[in-house]
Amino acid sequence: MRVHSFHSHLALFYHDNDDCPFGQTIKPLSRRPGKAGLGLCMLCRKLDKEDEDANSSMVHEAQLED
Ligand SMILES: [Zn+2]
Repeated sequence: MRVHSFHSHLALFYHDNDDCPFGQTIKPLSRRPGKAGLGLCMLCRKLDKEDEDANSSMVHEAQLED
């Protein structure tokens, strides 16, 4: 699921998806909020896309019911 952006103070990328295994390796104490000018993690980008696809297919199904 998509969440607010966070990063590790050591990281090269920020994360914004709580399904990301890389983001999950960041200990809570090492988490910093925001993007800090970093690039988005590739896996988060993929997970975000899958979330968007899932959401849009739900919208599509809802539209079909109308
Ligand atoms: Zn990530």
